[in-house]
Amino acid sequence: MKLDATDIRYLSSEEFRVLTAVEMGSKNHEVVPTSLITQISKLKSGGINKILGSLAKRGLVSRVQNAKYDGYRLTYGGYDFLAIRALSKRDSVTAVGNQIGVGKESDIYVVTNAEGEERVLKLHRLGRVSFRAIKSKRDYLGKRKSATWMYMSRLSAQKEWAFMKVLHENGFPVPKPLDQARHCVLMELIDAYPLRQISEHPSPGTLYSSLMDLIVRFAHAGLIHGDFNEFNILIHRVTGEPIVIDFPQMVSTRHANAEFYFNRDVECIKTFFLRRFGYQSLVWPRFSRIIKEGEKDEESFRLDVVVAASGFGRKDQEELEKYMEMQGGDDDRSQSESEEESDEDEHSEAVPLNDNDVVPESGSDKEQGVENASEQDSDDESRTS
Ligand code: ADP
Ligand code: MG
Repeated sequence: MKLDATDIRYLSSEEFRVLTAVEMGSKNHEVVPTSLITQISKLKSGGINKILGSLAKRGLVSRVQNAKYDGYRLTYGGYDFLAIRALSKRDSVTAVGNQIGVGKESDIYVVTNAEGEERVLKLHRLGRVSFRAIKSKRDYLGKRKSATWMYMSRLSAQKEWAFMKVLHENGFPVPKPLDQARHCVLMELIDAYPLRQISEHPSPGTLYSSLMDLIVRFAHAGLIHGDFNEFNILIHRVTGEPIVIDFPQMVSTRHANAEFYFNRDVECIKTFFLRRFGYQSLVWPRFSRIIKEGEKDEESFRLDVVVAASGFGRKDQEELEKYMEMQGGDDDRSQSESEEESDEDEHSEAVPLNDNDVVPESGSDKEQGVENASEQDSDDESRTS
């Protein structure tokens, strides 16, 4: 989806009021009746049609004529506009640049602030793919039958923001979170390649260990990434350090299916290293062991608890999770599997890391949780440090 932010600041106050009225009306109406828009925006009905017409022309709302009544719907573009305008009012974003990523559930742009510093804006787009399927299948949304995509996209952004903040504050290698509005998260731009693009590595064992150590570190803090794979691990161009992104599916180690998610993350790394680097290790972290170790930790170090207390509560998490489960398989993993066959193309665009590139130091000193640490293969020199 094209994001047009060239004229974020140019909307008359009346247009802005009407656009906001459409957004508010969307909470309870799939198609917001023009009469309701008039009522919410408190504008004379004479002028409103003209304003709605101009908003529709700019693609911020779309007119819907249905059997019962005529009305308008907020478009993705309109929701983007409102979010970016909010960020621009706070001077977090002043210009929108290139799109650097498009997932099934997000669009990623490089943006700049007033000082010209580059940042990453992630627009969450839940419901883009299967909104209709979900609507027809489920009724759990209860009264909130309309605007599911808006609500869920915002919830997803709020979750990502909450987790990224807590992780960053606790020294995890994640982008620095900078701001959040509606369905958007603004974060530090990492100068990195996704792991997926790296075709060769001077020491896959070292990288493997540091990634498994990260999984263990997350778990010791009560968390499981839930989508820990070559798309969501960035390798810093200068330091070679892995940086983890993409948090809407994170779960607590106390989640009913925690062990399943944990093993799946571990398995993703094992599979990728074997397939890409022909690298296989005899060691990998085991859930039960890590949980046992975690029990010794103070409650205050349970970041799952910290997040739940930070404003993104359990109810929100459950609601988002239910929704994501329904979408089933719309994550990066299914992307990864489907691309397995096109490995050729993948390699042609892949970037080899050469020996001059810095390789991450030993993953960490946390050997606990890794079985048979002594059998760590010889490829992994820095382990001995
Ligand atoms: P999705 O939920 O769609 O998978 P991600 O958060 O994983 O979205 O981001 C998609 C892609 O955008 C990543 O694979 C990466 O290439 C790029 N990207 C995301 N965040 C950053 C960032 N902070 N710095 C640099 N690149 C990023
Ligand atoms: Mg991703």
